[in-house]
Amino acid sequence: MKTDAATSARMARVRNRDTAAEMAVRRELHRRGRRYVVQRAVLPGRRRADIVFTRAKVAVFIDGCFWHSCPQHATRPKANAAWWAEKLARNVARDRQTDSDLRSAGWRVVRVWEHEPAVIAADIIEAAVTEALAG
Ligand SMILES: [Zn+2]
Repeated sequence: MKTDAATSARMARVRNRDTAAEMAVRRELHRRGRRYVVQRAVLPGRRRADIVFTRAKVAVFIDGCFWHSCPQHATRPKANAAWWAEKLARNVARDRQTDSDLRSAGWRVVRVWEHEPAVIAADIIEAAVTEALAG
């Protein structure tokens, strides 16, 4: 696979933004007194969840707009367009499979886009944890 300079630059930026979004949400949850573990594989062989509340059984994924095809910001590289289309479609299919496997195993799955402000993301996550703990 060849990637042109623009695509490589975009990928690098997106990776950094993923991390920054994740850190912002984690900081916000921590500030609110929520305790969690990070980067935990909830089910063997599946993508690690970004933030996990083990007692509540809530798995949180902060999905990057590019890699997970956010409806607002997804962009498609022009070089190797078919390859990218297939790869990104596979990512989305894998996400849905992960959701379904986790739910079958009794987990709640929360997905927030990286573009979501950390405060909003933390609100959504906290609501899911509270609901889960209430049974
Ligand atoms: Zn987005």
